[in-house]
Amino acid sequence: MLKFIGKGVCGGTAIGPAVIYKKEELKIKRIAVKDSENEILRFEKAKKKSADMLREIYEKALIEVGETGAEIFQIHLMMLDDEDFNASVRRIIVHQMVNAEYAISVTAENFAHMFSSMDDHYMKARAIDVKDISERLILALDKARGSDTLERPSIICARDLTPSETVLFDKEKILGFITTHGSANSHTAILARNMNIPAVIGVGDSFLLNVKEGDLLAVDGRAGEIFVEPDSETVIKIREKENENQEKKELLKKLRGKENITLDGKKINIFANIQGTEDIGAVLASDAGGVGLFRSEFLYLDKDTFPGEDEQFEAYKKVLVAMSGKKVIIRTLDIGADKKAGYFSLDDEENPALGLRGLRLCLKRPEILKTQLRALFSASKFGSLGIMFPMVTNFWEGERIIEIVREVKSELDRDGIPYSGDVELGIMIETPAAALISDKLAALFDFFSIGTNDLSQYTLACDRQNPNIEEFFDPYHEGIMKLIKMSADSIHKEGGWIGICGELAGDLTLTESFLKMGIDELSVSPSEILKLRDKVRKTKVGDN
Ligand code: PEP
Ligand code: MG
Repeated sequence: MLKFIGKGVCGGTAIGPAVIYKKEELKIKRIAVKDSENEILRFEKAKKKSADMLREIYEKALIEVGETGAEIFQIHLMMLDDEDFNASVRRIIVHQMVNAEYAISVTAENFAHMFSSMDDHYMKARAIDVKDISERLILALDKARGSDTLERPSIICARDLTPSETVLFDKEKILGFITTHGSANSHTAILARNMNIPAVIGVGDSFLLNVKEGDLLAVDGRAGEIFVEPDSETVIKIREKENENQEKKELLKKLRGKENITLDGKKINIFANIQGTEDIGAVLASDAGGVGLFRSEFLYLDKDTFPGEDEQFEAYKKVLVAMSGKKVIIRTLDIGADKKAGYFSLDDEENPALGLRGLRLCLKRPEILKTQLRALFSASKFGSLGIMFPMVTNFWEGERIIEIVREVKSELDRDGIPYSGDVELGIMIETPAAALISDKLAALFDFFSIGTNDLSQYTLACDRQNPNIEEFFDPYHEGIMKLIKMSADSIHKEGGWIGICGELAGDLTLTESFLKMGIDELSVSPSEILKLRDKVRKTKVGDN
């Protein structure tokens, strides 16, 4: 038995076989598409991206291994432009109406086969190059893996996982996550918490060197402990812990149906964070008072092309109907930074967290935002909807949001599509700039919701993805608390309300401070609702 220690980011225990997730293994799925032109566009963009990369590699190789060694990348560049190769990919896309990944992989197989059956040694060797190029192209498309990689319930072991990789797994079959890298504030860690799946991150490289596919693993997501091929004593201990957790959960269940009220009578809302309609069951089971953050970008991430208005409408309607009149706050698309989907064709950025993400992308490409808003407003009559916008920085962005909402409403009026007149509009406070001008922004909106994950990242100038600077990433920093308090005072002055939907909302050591600041709502993973209710009911706020 071997033992490894990392950072537990989601409690609970798991025992099951290891699945080693390797990014190099491209599993290409044949996916039917409706819009072949868009697929061809994706292919062209992937080609450009691959060519840029190859040119960079060529320059580097030229310095490091000289002209002869670097020549191969010139050949790759030429092959990328090979007319027969390109024509074949386009033909497969158009005639078979399939995704670009599939068309590239079939073309590469055919070409590799053709080369390897040639007599000329030089040409024979080109087979491997074709495969290399096709893999580069497919990676540049950023949508390589299928969601059906798990054959049985397993514990996923990886170097690191991006949010889109995480969501592509079949959730029902994930027993736990272990990554050798990654940080507690990454979206992958948040996803694990939201899915309520035991997760340990930052275990170190030696872990993957010592674990094979199929090895039995026992994971304690609270202690951050992992046992490879555990002995029977350890298995018993882990199972006992699971039972203890179960008992605690049973105790908490007694709080179902009870109010979120402090010892001295202050009531607050405790809502749930969700990724999509598949989380509704967990929300209902958790006894949440509403949905405080629906990260709508996950509707876009698990796709090869933009979800249309109707598809989005159905998803929003489903959540609103299921919550039967309880508040549902849906955040508009927050794509960019670590959440990427190939079909957005976003340029690579040197500092993606400071780049074109969230509202910025939506304001640059308003047609995307408008489609989403049309779907949201059309669904609004099925429940109590709040819409909030991420990553606001400037006052003019707030004004522009109001203007776009007005435009969308008049389009719906013109089309005779009904919508509720009570939709609340809010923004996330995730940048220090927004908190500092919250007095002005408060006049435009009904509510604020503090995204403490990003507010911490931007206030502390610490990348939330970077595990090497975790000791500098102090989410309790006085500066962050001041910005939250400032925002609360601003919105209350205008008669609005304020919530917190970042990970700090579930930090029980801060509950008292937040309540004292006047926070009206806390939104956490469904699994944390009752723990938070318990804490609120044991807290005294006083007169402030
Ligand atoms: C946040 O930044 O705190 C937040 C809730 O948004 P996300 O984690 O999705 O960026
Ligand atoms: Mg955020």
